[in-house]
Amino acid sequence: MSYSQMLSCNICPRNCGIDRTQQKGICGVTDKLRINLATRHLGEEPCFSGTRGSGTIFFSGCNLHCIYCQNYEISTLCWGKDISAEELIRLMLKLQKEGAHNINLVTPTHFTLQIKDAIIQAKEKGLTIPVLWNSSAYEKVETLQTLNGLVDIYMPDLKYAHQVYAQKYSSAPDYPAVAISAIKEMYSQVGLLTLDEKGIAQKGLLIRMLVLPNKLAGCKENLRTLADELGTELTLSLMGQYYPAGKAKNCKELSRGISETEYYDVVDTAIEIGLTNLYTQEISSSDIWTPDFSPTPQEINPLSEFNPQSELTQ
Ligand code: SF4
Repeated sequence: MSYSQMLSCNICPRNCGIDRTQQKGICGVTDKLRINLATRHLGEEPCFSGTRGSGTIFFSGCNLHCIYCQNYEISTLCWGKDISAEELIRLMLKLQKEGAHNINLVTPTHFTLQIKDAIIQAKEKGLTIPVLWNSSAYEKVETLQTLNGLVDIYMPDLKYAHQVYAQKYSSAPDYPAVAISAIKEMYSQVGLLTLDEKGIAQKGLLIRMLVLPNKLAGCKENLRTLADELGTELTLSLMGQYYPAGKAKNCKELSRGISETEYYDVVDTAIEIGLTNLYTQEISSSDIWTPDFSPTPQEINPLSEFNPQSELTQ
């Protein structure tokens, strides 16, 4: 894969085929790196946030566009600031200097080529903390293969088990099959999640599943698929923080948070299957987990911390 692919972009399964030096694709951005926030985030899973925070960099744009997206302003409206590759490298090194446990690249898929080069250069300039790829899993295997040896930790979502809901809520009927293939590739690169003696993640795979109301995510089906395909030693994060954001407020079946019964039905199924490496969460139907994004951040300074009220537990 080379940078000339920006001239006819087929980096992700959307296969837009457009010239990103001139146009925006479905992901909403050109070839220019664009981010909204760089901060030490204390609300990720404890193995990522630790005591000093996960060095989180939120990229603008997204190739999926879920109607309930909790980061709508940056994923769809593309709030943010264009930055150079040098600036991205500087931010990574600055987050490391401030003590971040890792560099957490959020929604990076549509910038894979640019980020890959930035990681290589940041490592040459002294980046030693783990690099974490925090994506939707709506990604091509061949694109992910270009990251082999550069990304230490993959943290993909697994959003749907059923094509009909993937189409209805994310306009991506191929999501279930694409995501499972992507996750298998990630696993082949980094294996099971490993922690250091202080409980901080160093390498491996953690899969996040957001429980949607009315069983729309098909979490139980996906748990069985994961156990069959990759075994029961996987680490999973079962998320109970759904709240109706964006267009989901007007969609009857998505217009409420989840119930305890819905959430613990998924947790109990995971345990029954033997998937016991779990992070679970108190149910919350509010936006406490979502950072405050600014429409046009003037200065993206990683000195701030984002610290929600509660955290995921294992
Ligand atoms: S990365 Fe963006 S432009 Fe390229 S194929 Fe995906 S959605 Fe289209």
